[in-house]
Amino acid sequence: MSGKAVFLYSSELEQNSYPAECPFNSKRAGLTRKTIISMGLLSGSERSEHPPISATRQELEKFHVPAYLNALENAGKGELDANGFAMGLGTPDCPVFRGMYDYASLASGASITAANLIISGKTDIAFNPSGGYHHAGPNYAAGFCYINDIVLAALTFTRVGKRVLFLDLDVHHCDGVQAAFYRRRDVMTISLHESGKTLFPGTGFENEIGEGDGKGYSVNVPLPVGTYDSAYLKAFSEVALPLINSYNPDVFIIELGMDTLAGDPLAHLNLTNNVYAEIVSMVMKFKKPILATGGGGYNIENTVRGWALAWSVLCGDQTDDMSIGMGGMMLANTEWAGGLRDRVLLSDAGRRCVVDAEVQTVIERIRSTVFPIHGINT
Ligand SMILES: [Zn+2]
Repeated sequence: MSGKAVFLYSSELEQNSYPAECPFNSKRAGLTRKTIISMGLLSGSERSEHPPISATRQELEKFHVPAYLNALENAGKGELDANGFAMGLGTPDCPVFRGMYDYASLASGASITAANLIISGKTDIAFNPSGGYHHAGPNYAAGFCYINDIVLAALTFTRVGKRVLFLDLDVHHCDGVQAAFYRRRDVMTISLHESGKTLFPGTGFENEIGEGDGKGYSVNVPLPVGTYDSAYLKAFSEVALPLINSYNPDVFIIELGMDTLAGDPLAHLNLTNNVYAEIVSMVMKFKKPILATGGGGYNIENTVRGWALAWSVLCGDQTDDMSIGMGGMMLANTEWAGGLRDRVLLSDAGRRCVVDAEVQTVIERIRSTVFPIHGINT
C-alpha cells in the first residue's frame, strides 16, 4: 500500500472535445488540474500526476460489442451511418465529433490505468476527472457517454478477484453500470441520484435491487427535487454506510458527478460541495483503495471547484473547515470566495419538510428490502 494519490491527466485529453453547443465540457479536467496546481495540491511526496494509457480495442471489447465500437470509430472520422444512429450516436446528447473515438478511448483508458495502478500496489488513491461515463451500454451511447469506463475499471478489478463497491454520487442514475452488474455480487452498486420521475434516464428506483446472484447488490436512492446537504448525508449514512460495512469491499470506485450542486443547469438538487468532502472522507475511513472519477457537472466553475475540493480530501490535505461557511453573509454559493468549499446553503423550511418526508420513505424501503438480504438489523 502506498500513500501517494495519483491524478490522471494528459494534455492529449484536450485535443478533441464535444461540440461547443453540448453541455458536456471535457475541459473541466484540465481546469481542475490548473486549480489544484495553483493551490500546491499536485506537488510534494504525497501526490503525483500520471498519464493515462489509451484503452486498446481488446480492452474496450471486454464490455462493448465490436459493431458498436466500429460505428463509434467511424463516427469519429465523420462517417455516421444509420447503424451508428440506431446505437445512439449523432443525437443532441451524444453528438458526433472528430476524434471522439480517440477521446473516449483515452478518457476511459485513464480509469483502467488508475485501476491497474491500484492493483499493482503503486497507489491507493487515484482520481480520473475525465472519467465517469456511467450511462454507456455495451452497444449504445447515452447521456454524453460513449465508453463506460466505470464498467471497464470494475471489470479490471474483478478479473483479479477484487470485490468492488461502486458509489455513484452523480445526479443521474448510473443505468449503464447497474445493468452490467445487475446479476452479479462481486460489484455492489450504490447510487444516490435525483429521482427518475423528474430526471434522465428515468431509472434507479428503490425496487431495482438486482436479480439472481446479484439480488441486493444494486442499491438505488432516488431523491426528490430540492434535496439539500443534510437530507443527502442522512440518506448516505443510513443506507450506504451500513451496506459498505457489511459488504466490506476490496476497493471503491466513486463517481463524483457534480451535477447535484445547487445551480446546475440540467438538474434540480440543491447540494453544496461540502457533501462531497464529507462523503469522500467517510469512505477514506474504510482504509481501502479508492478510484475516483469525474462525471456530470454543467456549471463548469462549481464542478471544477468541487473536484479540486474532492482531490484535496483524497490527498489528505483538507482539514475539517465546515465552520468557515457558517454564519457568513447570504451570498449565492457561486459568489462564495472562502476557498474551495461552498458556503452553507439554507433552503426553504417548507421545501425541507417535503424533502425530509420523501427521503425518509426511500430509506425505509431500502432498509426493508435490501438490508435483510445482507443480514443487517434495522
Ligand atoms: Zn450526471
